[in-house]
Amino acid sequence: MPELPEVETVRRGLAPVMEGARIMRVEARRPDLRRPLPRDFVKRLEGQTVTGIGRRAKYLTADLASGEVLLMHLGMSGSFRVSHDGKKATPGEFHHPRTTAQTHDHVVFRLSSGATVTFNDPRRFGLMLIVPRGELESHPLMREVGPEPLGNAFDADLLAAACSGKKTSLKAALLDQRVVAGLGNIYVCEALHRALLSPKRRASTIATRTGTANPRAIALVDAIKAVLTDAIKAGGSSLRDHRRTDGELGYFQHHFRVYDREGKRCVTPGCGGTVRRVVQNGRSTFYCPTCQK
Ligand SMILES: [Zn+2]
Repeated sequence: MPELPEVETVRRGLAPVMEGARIMRVEARRPDLRRPLPRDFVKRLEGQTVTGIGRRAKYLTADLASGEVLLMHLGMSGSFRVSHDGKKATPGEFHHPRTTAQTHDHVVFRLSSGATVTFNDPRRFGLMLIVPRGELESHPLMREVGPEPLGNAFDADLLAAACSGKKTSLKAALLDQRVVAGLGNIYVCEALHRALLSPKRRASTIATRTGTANPRAIALVDAIKAVLTDAIKAGGSSLRDHRRTDGELGYFQHHFRVYDREGKRCVTPGCGGTVRRVVQNGRSTFYCPTCQK
């Protein structure tokens, strides 16, 4: 499942191609992805100018001149392919390589700029819905989504308040999309390592007795923002070099400090510990028991 940095990188790849362009033709090659495509899907998109490409949590949004929003999710295996003047690119860097097999091209947008944007999704856990702009925040998929981790509103007090009184592990709390949006297994492990906090620690221990932030919450919010910013920067720089956009290089992986590094030396300066893998709530956690307390 792509996490926030990957989705943001896709957004940054699509924005220059789609913003300001008119959707001339839409080909919906099957009636459904994870859910059926909306009623009159093609009709509501054709002829519309895209006024903006945004992101909320792991969802992409295309604002249309009609006042509706095309809401998109990559699911497990979805990707977009942009072709223009014979050049092809797949914006975004993914932990698992993306396919370009045409049998999995499900939705094709032909734009007034001459560019074609194709949604490819072998496992079909992706999603496309059309929602009126004014109803987006209250949409069932959106209304419980927590704060954006890179937004100004997300700070140590907000995170501490959300974790205060929680008996779950800190890792489980960070994976809860109501606590903070867009984080998954990889970046939760990475952020906890940077903050030198154990994933097994009780979530409530980053808050004071009155629910305000303690130094752990401050360190954790700094780490979350830093990890995501670095990952987006790494993905963004790879966008400029289309040879790297096939995902084969596992670009993000090279930057992991603990994720998928079981048995390797911890990179925290002066630590000397070894990265361990444990299973929490059925998922692998990578951490360093020596410096993460
Ligand atoms: Zn360590």
